[in-house]
Amino acid sequence: MAEDTVFGKIVRGEIPARIVYQDEEVTAFHDIAPVAPTHLLIVPNKPIRTLNDATPEDGALLGKLLLTARRLAHELGVAEQGYRLVLNCNPDGGQSVYHLHVHLLAGRKMTWPPG
Ligand code: 5GP
Repeated sequence: MAEDTVFGKIVRGEIPARIVYQDEEVTAFHDIAPVAPTHLLIVPNKPIRTLNDATPEDGALLGKLLLTARRLAHELGVAEQGYRLVLNCNPDGGQSVYHLHVHLLAGRKMTWPPG
């Protein structure tokens, strides 16, 4: 089990966040410091620390994160124009909150390669 993080507290409703979707498995909310006009975070309710810590048993849950991002992109009206999903892992990947999450970024043209 991962240590508790700010995302665990958001999932449990212990600190405020602009939650756009929640069910028994995943929670999606607006990033507190958006880097694009649309910047959501989609997290498993269960605190997996990093992608390295995910197991084959987490396969359906990981898939659900992507399908939730896909659905939210449609609902937010950004699917056709496009969006980027980002999953940072560990220090060199730029991870700062150690509760696995997918960023959904949209609303501007993304650059490649990332910095
Ligand atoms: P990472 O760098 O780990 O991939 O992304 C963590 C993200 O969480 C960052 O984009 C950061 O702005 C966001 N974040 C950190 N603390 C909070 C918080 O308390 N609330 C929300 N909504 N987002 C947060």
